[in-house]
Amino acid sequence: MVEDPICGMTVDESSRFTSIYQGRTYYFCSRSCKEDFDRNPGKYT
Ligand SMILES: [Zn+2]
Repeated sequence: MVEDPICGMTVDESSRFTSIYQGRTYYFCSRSCKEDFDRNPGKYT
């Protein structure tokens, strides 16, 4: 399990909402969290 950097929820690594940023994979609980991250990844890492 990993933490969603947007909302802090615990997310399973099989989540289909993922983004790769600077060589790291981030996992999200929902599309809206992923979209927030994609909009401004530097803010959350
Ligand atoms: Zn989330």
